[in-house]
Amino acid sequence: MWRAMRHPIRFGRDHRFTVRHASGYLDGELEADAARRVRDHTHLCPKCREMLDSLRRTISSLAGLRGSRRASVVPDVLDALRSDEHRTS
Ligand SMILES: [Zn+2]
Repeated sequence: MWRAMRHPIRFGRDHRFTVRHASGYLDGELEADAARRVRDHTHLCPKCREMLDSLRRTISSLAGLRGSRRASVVPDVLDALRSDEHRTS
C-alpha cells in the first residue's frame, strides 16, 4: 500500500487521471484497473471526492430533467471544474 504524501508525483498523475475519467467512472465505463485507480485516489483526495459528489448530483438532476441526454453535458461540467481549479491554484 502506497501513501499519497510519499508519492506526490503519482498522486498528481492519479489526480489528473481521476478528473479526466470522472464521468466514465460514474457511468461505470472504466476498466476494473482504472476504476480502482479512481476509487483509491478519491479516498485520498478531498477535491476529487467533492468533484465526484457534485458531478453525481449534476448527473442525477439532469437525468431527471432530460432523461437520456445527460451524457452530453458531462464534458461541460468537467471543463468548468478544470478551469475553476486553474483559477484557484
Ligand atoms: Zn484528486
